[in-house]
Amino acid sequence: MTVRTRFAPSPTGYLHIGGVRTALFSWLYARKHGGQFILRIEDTDLERSTIDSVNAILEGMTWLGLEYDEGPIYQTKRFDRYGEVIQQLMDSGHAYKCYCSKERLETLRAGQMERKEKPRYDGRCRAGAEPPSADAPYVIRFRNPLDGEVVVNDLIRGHVVFRNSELDDLVIARSSGAPTYNLTVVVDDSDMEITHVIRGDDHVNNTPRQVNILKALGIKPPVYAHVPMILGPDGKRLSKRHGAVSVMQYREDGFLPEAVLNYLVRLGWSHGDQEVFSVDEMIELFDIADVNRAASVFNHEKLLWLNQQYIMKTDVLRIARHLSYHLGRRGIDPAPEPDLHQVVEAQHERAQTLEEMADISEFFYRDFDAYDATAAKKHLRPVAREPLERIKEKLAVLDTWSKEDIYQAVQDVAAELDIKMGKVAQPLRVAVVGRAASPSIDETLYLVGQEASLRRIDRALEFISRRVQGQ
Ligand code: GLU
Repeated sequence: MTVRTRFAPSPTGYLHIGGVRTALFSWLYARKHGGQFILRIEDTDLERSTIDSVNAILEGMTWLGLEYDEGPIYQTKRFDRYGEVIQQLMDSGHAYKCYCSKERLETLRAGQMERKEKPRYDGRCRAGAEPPSADAPYVIRFRNPLDGEVVVNDLIRGHVVFRNSELDDLVIARSSGAPTYNLTVVVDDSDMEITHVIRGDDHVNNTPRQVNILKALGIKPPVYAHVPMILGPDGKRLSKRHGAVSVMQYREDGFLPEAVLNYLVRLGWSHGDQEVFSVDEMIELFDIADVNRAASVFNHEKLLWLNQQYIMKTDVLRIARHLSYHLGRRGIDPAPEPDLHQVVEAQHERAQTLEEMADISEFFYRDFDAYDATAAKKHLRPVAREPLERIKEKLAVLDTWSKEDIYQAVQDVAAELDIKMGKVAQPLRVAVVGRAASPSIDETLYLVGQEASLRRIDRALEFISRRVQGQ
């Protein structure tokens, strides 16, 4: 048997981090077993589904590298097929027309609520109802077995038993004829020969209903695994108020896709005390059966830590590609100078995110707007004027702009003035980068370039003069 899994998001919003975790688990399961992973877009809710959301899902999957073997398959393109199956269920007596009015169902529900009973359909049309009029609207309900049990051997939750007496006859086609979620999922999972349904545990209660429909159709149900949800630090379900939940927001915030995947795979699953897993290791070591049954709590600090690990260890070329995106968003074209790879080499141990790396690397590409106030107050003082003037003279006449020569120049000025090197290097750094921290002074100036360095030293000297004049 070839393992076939699927990710079946409804395009009614962004691709959120919980959805990505489910997609990742399905993807890993297929890859681990040499199977196939299918992307299905559950867009039958025409009012809430949007093309923007479809695009966000596709973009997210691509960014994460969760490539699918089939799809995207759109449910809206399969209405004829759902109609066929609904008819099949009608013909075999497993479904029936229900003419109960909205008002009747509302009254029924209100009464059940008042008596503190579980709201459910009472089966009034189950035995066959006469249409109240020739063109009376109706829905189609599935004739759920009245007794017996549905047993699900969930890969994560274990043996779960549902009593049929707890379930009611669910609507499988609305009065418009449109199929409902449980019907479409069943048809698709069986037509697409899905062997393992890995999805969020908000669908646990749908599972016995789906199993019953499958049985009515004479189809063997797939294996299920319901993934526990992700909670925010306050113990409530992860949502917008906990910060970014859209996966593309993580991209904008400067996270690497592999760090996000690594973080999510570790959420509720572990392998000894290993924290960092390459995608290949995830495929090899991850097992859905080892996922914790309890909900996991999202920890932003840990994600940041992992991201930093990845920024430090990932191939410079790859980081440079990502950084280029972040610089591009700021209107910086990193193509000309300095070489982006060298910038990454200089900065990759200094940033937790690519946004932070872009922040601290902008000055390599363009003059900064303003000095960091504290750094300027401390280092751009009248005492810094002479070291800055002298270093400017030396740097101006350098024929080759090399790290060695820059370093030598700084050292010479310190020796001439009989001051510590830092008394030259720090004002120089603030002059050239606008802040008190950057890679080593020679490397920093080397990457900024001769012309820009000199221009910025002049600017700092003017700043000091204005300061002296109290402007
Ligand atoms: N479309 C459903 C959702 O986005 C998932 C259905 C399923 O995985 O069975 O929640």
